[in-house]
Amino acid sequence: MSEFSATVAFRSAERWLRDKRFPEGIDAILSRSNGSPQHSNLKSFLPGRVKRWALDAGPIPVFLTNDRRAEAAVALIDKVLERPVFNLVRGPGRAVIPRAGLVVSLGTAAGNPAEPHEICIGNVSGLGDETGWDDDTVDEQGRFRRPLCVRIDSPAGHRATFDQVVHEFGHALGLGDHFPGFGKPQGAPAVDDAFWAALVRLYQLSPGDEYADASPPA
Ligand SMILES: [Zn+2]
Repeated sequence: MSEFSATVAFRSAERWLRDKRFPEGIDAILSRSNGSPQHSNLKSFLPGRVKRWALDAGPIPVFLTNDRRAEAAVALIDKVLERPVFNLVRGPGRAVIPRAGLVVSLGTAAGNPAEPHEICIGNVSGLGDETGWDDDTVDEQGRFRRPLCVRIDSPAGHRATFDQVVHEFGHALGLGDHFPGFGKPQGAPAVDDAFWAALVRLYQLSPGDEYADASPPA
């Protein structure tokens, strides 16, 4: 039994595994979140097309620091996607710069400079830039090819919950825009049923696929 089994993330994952039911409009939700030409994170990357890690050459290396939330988040995502998505590398962590993969960094979450009053307990960035993704994160086939840094907890010591840690891994796997079930509206659970459905759907699609509904929302 996981110490996180009472969290919304854990319980909604169990619901997904039991029912495996995609909510209505999941493709439109995913198109807006991952394909959107508007989103602040993903708009510059292959707009209108699927962007994700390609797993055919093996799972994504994850450089883990010793953190139970991150370890449990990775295990839960593997379980829901029903395949080994992550290859855990423990130990030197940030001292090793992977060619591609995820680096979990604790106490370095960096907020949006436009909203400095907001406490930021998690974000995903390139390794060099605290808030942005490297321009070449996504190749022309829609595959993630650069390291991403999953930043958890604020430098001032504000701790992310387990749900929030799972949420950041969702961003690192390709979910851009928030949606109901993924941190929207403000104050709603960081991840809920639609999160798992969107993540499963994203990893059923192939990198570079064109979204049918790639038009901007009205
Ligand atoms: Zn978010």
